[in-house]
Amino acid sequence: MKIQCQIEVINRLHSALNLRNNGKYLKSTLALGKEPKSETEYFILHFSSLNKTGTKYRVKSIKQVFVKYINEGKSTIRFEEPPYDLCIKSESIQLKCFMKLLRSCITGDEKALHLSPLSSLSVTAKNNAPVKLVISDRSQFPAKGLPRTLQSLYLSGLKLCNFRRDILLLKHLAVLDLSNNEIEKLPPEFGRMANLSELHLANNQLGVRGVVDWRWLLGPQITKTLKLLDLTSNKLGHLPKAIWKLEKLVTLKANDNMISRLPATIGRISTLRYFTISSNELQSLPCSLMQCRLEYIDISSNKFDNKQNNSTSDQYSPWQFYVGSLVHLSAKIILKHKIHYASNIIPWTLVEFLDNANMCVCGAPVVNYTHSINKEYDLKDYFRTVVFNNNLSVVEFECYFCSPKCFLKH
Ligand SMILES: [Zn+2]
Repeated sequence: MKIQCQIEVINRLHSALNLRNNGKYLKSTLALGKEPKSETEYFILHFSSLNKTGTKYRVKSIKQVFVKYINEGKSTIRFEEPPYDLCIKSESIQLKCFMKLLRSCITGDEKALHLSPLSSLSVTAKNNAPVKLVISDRSQFPAKGLPRTLQSLYLSGLKLCNFRRDILLLKHLAVLDLSNNEIEKLPPEFGRMANLSELHLANNQLGVRGVVDWRWLLGPQITKTLKLLDLTSNKLGHLPKAIWKLEKLVTLKANDNMISRLPATIGRISTLRYFTISSNELQSLPCSLMQCRLEYIDISSNKFDNKQNNSTSDQYSPWQFYVGSLVHLSAKIILKHKIHYASNIIPWTLVEFLDNANMCVCGAPVVNYTHSINKEYDLKDYFRTVVFNNNLSVVEFECYFCSPKCFLKH
């Protein structure tokens, strides 16, 4: 039997020593149960908000029970050992039932007793709620479905071809490991995952059919929580322009793909610190990357040696920097001040226009033209740790300029 009540525990030794008691009644649960494997041993368990594991008192060590004020819902149980008084306040009928049962325990009146063994009087259901699940074989999927309480879920190496939609129901999920499967895409609804901070998609089949559905990147929730994205060893030919929507992204891994060009938007992810893109087909980097404060970058095993020489400064003259149309001017303002835009607010053609904007070496937006100049920069001047072939760190950057001043300066 269990009752909800308020309890103050008084240590009589403290009162004898005149130590001040805090005099606080705590919201509590009092349970009466039988000791497992025993027919005559009974216990009282006291749980409170401060003591979730509970304190166990033997009924045999009760010295006295005070029930004078039981009609007012008050009673005290005095124990010989430990020398504690449990002062109880509860609803009177409930308390009377509890005391009646307690009396039966003390007197040994078995007829009145239908108590459960103490072990089954669990504290709270919360302790049983799983927060982590590792599945290493398909047969291990819970028959009742994935527990809604999960915070981390590991589904690695299960040969899954499709994303399991029941994952979308896990509102508390923070870590999702889908690595070593055969997944080709995530559904757009995945963007509504409210708490996801780590997404492991290494060794899958993203990009195997050429076009990848990245709409989940536009999700209202995931863009605000995702910190780690691992796309290692997929079949990606490029990273999505919308990658910058992940405004909390710290770690991006895209090693071992077929990426030949990075989107200029990558420079807009101000939180990015670890970026690995080794074993791809990059020939140059966007100059916007220099705006990221990376602590670690790995660009080894790419194709930086294949010089492009597709443009020279001869094609470029200060006369090409013109004032620009109203769209250009307003686009610059939106990008400069990082004003939020999305296709539910403005036409998607404008969204695309803004996402396609480049970035000047100075960090300012460039929307007027698409001419670029390849220039070499030393990555070590910009980033703390650089991993590149043969300790080299000079790489060609695809540079854009916002003004004649920037053009002449760089
Ligand atoms: Zn500039």
